[in-house]
Amino acid sequence: MAGLVAAARLRELGVRARVDEKGTRIGGSMLLSSCVIWRHREWSDFRRECPDGDPALQRLIWSRLDESLQWLVAQGAEPLSVETGNPLTTGWRFEPAALARALASRVQEIRLGTAVRETGRRSILCTGGFGGSAELVAQHIRPAAPLRLRANPWSEGDGLRLGTGRGGALSAGLTDFYGRNMPDASWGESQFVPLSQLYARFARIFDVDGVEFFARDDVSWSESNVVAATARRPTARAFYLLDEEALAGSVRDRSVADMVAAAPAATRVAPSELPFAAPAGTATAVRVAAAITHTIGGLRVDDRARVVDAGGSPVEGLWAAGVDAGGVAAGGYASGLAQALVLGLSAADDVAWAQP
Ligand SMILES: Cc1cc2nc3c(=O)[nH]c(=O)nc-3n(C[C@H](O)[C@H](O)[C@H](O)COP(=O)(O)OP(=O)(O)OC[C@H]3O[C@@H](n4cnc5c(N)ncnc54)[C@H](O)[C@@H]3O)c2cc1C
Repeated sequence: MAGLVAAARLRELGVRARVDEKGTRIGGSMLLSSCVIWRHREWSDFRRECPDGDPALQRLIWSRLDESLQWLVAQGAEPLSVETGNPLTTGWRFEPAALARALASRVQEIRLGTAVRETGRRSILCTGGFGGSAELVAQHIRPAAPLRLRANPWSEGDGLRLGTGRGGALSAGLTDFYGRNMPDASWGESQFVPLSQLYARFARIFDVDGVEFFARDDVSWSESNVVAATARRPTARAFYLLDEEALAGSVRDRSVADMVAAAPAATRVAPSELPFAAPAGTATAVRVAAAITHTIGGLRVDDRARVVDAGGSPVEGLWAAGVDAGGVAAGGYASGLAQALVLGLSAADDVAWAQP
């Protein structure tokens, strides 16, 4: 998403720009997403929920998101909804393919199947983080067991490698990630959203050794904290145990019973078949596995989206946007699409301003 945004904005500003896209299609993980581009309604909630993030970057995204959404509309993208359905947040939902098409129509040139490389020219790194690299995930998101990928397959840390190779520093939040607990079965791209197991707040949560490792009262509204904890349990798997009262619960417009029923049969476990003694009253259990959607740490950037070195000085000719720019949501979770939109625009504005 960030690459398309930046290139569209550069063209608008009269700067020639090309998108090199490693994948076989445009849109990255945005294309697979629920496409709610949001921010916390209150600044204090953003700070409280992402306490280790860079306040300057957070302030930039928080304060520029609303006008940036208007900019998207000016590019021809029509929102499906202008609310998130969550009282804590505000934002708009788009149809991902239509948004990708609208942005692409504003871009001068897109080369599919072309990985970004060192050219000596000005570059905005927008490769979508390193969630697709098992090696980098193991190196940074310690001590997480191998995590399944719930995102586009091409975001393998190329931006991070290129940026650090040029002297860019690493941001805060490298051990953090955003993801979902998914049924412990095989699933494909079209099931990333419908198969997300988003009812941990109703469940009792045990690891495969029978240790109850997370209290449902501590589950955050996004449930990303229980996913992070699951990633650190043996084999990155867990069991969600549900009694009748839990099954009667609902999350927004979906009932827990429906979400459980949508999980593949092989992941639904009768209490008597659990590898440990189930607490009294357990009606059913679902075996889940932690999956990574995107990384939260990455390259350190300033509030002009310039990649900076360990001393805070900009690396010549290098910007980063989207989740290649790290440290925005460190310690918590915030909208990756908002980060892609606002930092994509900021990077493009700065590139245009810095034109020789
Ligand atoms: C199922 C799902 C639901 C989601 N729902 C939401 C939501 O509702 N709201 C929200 O805010 N976020 C959501 N997200 C997360 C959101 O999609 C990402 O945070 C966002 O897309 C990040 O933007 P980006 O531009 O950094 O990366 P991407 O959109 O993933 O784009 C990165 C692009 O870089 C390309 N690339 C990788 N390496 C290279 C290379 N070396 N050279 C050239 N190109 C390269 C990739 O192919 C990809 O096209 C969701 C994600 C998924 C998968």
